[in-house]
Amino acid sequence: MRVGVLSLQGAFREHLGVLDSLGVGSRKVTRPEHLESIDSIILPGGESSAMVRIAATTGLFPALEEKISAGLPVFGTCAGLILLADRLTDDSLGGFDRLGGLDVTVARNAYGRQRESFCAPVQVTGLDSTFEATFIRAPQILNFGTDVQVLSEYAEVPVLVRQANIWGGSFHPELGTDTRIHEEFLHSLTAIV
Ligand code: GLN
Repeated sequence: MRVGVLSLQGAFREHLGVLDSLGVGSRKVTRPEHLESIDSIILPGGESSAMVRIAATTGLFPALEEKISAGLPVFGTCAGLILLADRLTDDSLGGFDRLGGLDVTVARNAYGRQRESFCAPVQVTGLDSTFEATFIRAPQILNFGTDVQVLSEYAEVPVLVRQANIWGGSFHPELGTDTRIHEEFLHSLTAIV
């Protein structure tokens, strides 16, 4: 198994580190040709407005969007969730290509600014104890379609969701030493790939 990690900007090193600690093969993805050698992809947190600008120069996002709609498993965390959302509440990313595919409406930065970052224990479907979730200028999922399954909530708002091959989370599962959410995503691949 080879998991790609979108490595344009943001917390890609941390995701690569988690995959490494789980003994899972990975590769950085920055260009369309890198998509040929992966079975799934993680889109990290960071700054979505920077990611869309960098990606615009390579044609990566149209190629990735096609792969995702053909079934490539993808997990977008934080800024990665913003890239996957079918709808944003504002047009702050301008006319740049995103990916879409996940039937949710997302508000960027809705949990507050950098200094309002916080950690909170959340229940996650499939885990037998709570996961300490880190929210950093996190996007909020405001509504979601009927095909979207909610895997975790914080304050009655979904913070981890799944729609078939597409996973999205508001928080940063790669920070800290708890690798269980990555493991859940990786286990789901054996059912899909
Ligand atoms: N606020 C960032 C954005 O809109 C996301 C923050 C994060 O990924 N931690 O892209």
